[in-house]
Amino acid sequence: MRIVILGGGVVGVTTAYQLQRDGHEVVVLDRCAEVAAETSWGNAGMVAPGHSFVWSSPAAPMTLLKSLFLRDQALRFRFSADPHLYAWSLRFLAQCTADRARRNTLLKHRLAAYSQSVLHEVLGRETIVYDRSDRGILYVHRSAQALERGIAQMRLLESDGQVVRVLDRTGLAALDPVLGAAPGVVGAIHCPTDETGDPALFTRALAGLVAARGGEIATRTTITGIETDGRAVTGIRTGGGRVTGDAYVLALGSYSPILARRIGIRLPIYPIKGYALTIPIGGHAHPPAIASVDEHHLVAISRFGDRLRVTATAAFSGYDVSHKPSDFTFMTDVVRNLYPDGADYARAQMWAGLRPMTPTNLPLFGRARYRNLYLNTGHGHIGWTMSHGSARITADLIAGRRPALPMDGLLATRAGHAP
Ligand SMILES: Cc1cc2nc3c(=O)[nH]c(=O)nc-3n(C[C@H](O)[C@H](O)[C@H](O)COP(=O)(O)OP(=O)(O)OC[C@H]3O[C@@H](n4cnc5c(N)ncnc54)[C@H](O)[C@@H]3O)c2cc1C
Repeated sequence: MRIVILGGGVVGVTTAYQLQRDGHEVVVLDRCAEVAAETSWGNAGMVAPGHSFVWSSPAAPMTLLKSLFLRDQALRFRFSADPHLYAWSLRFLAQCTADRARRNTLLKHRLAAYSQSVLHEVLGRETIVYDRSDRGILYVHRSAQALERGIAQMRLLESDGQVVRVLDRTGLAALDPVLGAAPGVVGAIHCPTDETGDPALFTRALAGLVAARGGEIATRTTITGIETDGRAVTGIRTGGGRVTGDAYVLALGSYSPILARRIGIRLPIYPIKGYALTIPIGGHAHPPAIASVDEHHLVAISRFGDRLRVTATAAFSGYDVSHKPSDFTFMTDVVRNLYPDGADYARAQMWAGLRPMTPTNLPLFGRARYRNLYLNTGHGHIGWTMSHGSARITADLIAGRRPALPMDGLLATRAGHAP
């Protein structure tokens, strides 16, 4: 088949790669000058099944409420005139029971771990240089009680096969001497099988392979509408003309619901803004030796070769991706405090992007309303982690094959609706 993929983020490009492997002709449409130029550009690069905990947890309602009154919170809820925000928030709150959080976390972990195995298959086959590090990820705690809570929480993922090591300061220092000596840090949970790598480098290299094998990567192509005859998608309207195929995959991240709504598909995806710094190490003597998440401050730090990527914050501000220097003060203070001689902080590059979040924190898969339209979207805060498996699943579903990962709980129960 000729398959048109709407969106050239990591989800769209991995999907094109897997579909091409199945023998299809693929076309990727993206409005930017390069693939992976929006959310898939600035993320923390963590391939982190160990970070599969859903945000829609029993603690979330209180955290959201507090964020209305307190400044400098990692999670920032704000009222707005956008009706979609309230519809989405109600569905999010409905997922915040202990049972649902547990179920959604386990489903997400299963998908994340499967996805990592698909990534490894791809790396076994292709040569892709993307500043990968396979030393694991440290989930760092700042009090003995928080570490104990973190260990107890991690048991859920351990029961699903996640490898976990608990480290005190000495153990931490053996992996990263600077972090082991950092003020306020008491210990960490090390997930040695988690890994990191620059998602934009990866996605661009993969797109290059797809193009070299005959696929079309149509950048600078803005999609303006989806045409249907009521039963099937018949074409995609773009600024550069009409594009047609036998099947279509919707992979527009946070923008998926906007185009889908116009053809009668309501997708429960809301953009949640995050901020990122990219900082050259610039010859500094003590950069991070291993990626980490400061669980107290909710700041993630990864090292991509000679750069650090630091990310933080979840803000409800619609589709606004603007940012100002003060948005980055807190996260700069956190990373500088942990790694005083870690990088050239004065040369940090600032960025903001939108996480395409669903209320369950699980992506949307499967056929949606039209017989030849498939969803692969809504990957939220660990979409780089889940992209490779999601791509394989989508290719399997299009082929009418049963995916290697059991899909119960992961497939939309009704067209256009989340599980
Ligand atoms: C601060 C931050 C940190 C993160 N850290 C991590 C992490 O460490 N690990 C992890 O696994 N995930 C992380 N994520 C999440 C991850 O980045 C996303 O889940 C993932 O990038 C989503 O990919 P996507 O392809 O669905 O969306 P996108 O990358 O947004 O791709 C969608 C594409 O659609 C295109 N598009 C949109 N509208 C149109 C249109 N009308 N016409 C043509 N093209 C259009 C856009 O140009 C874009 O390229 C993080 C996210 C943020 C914001």
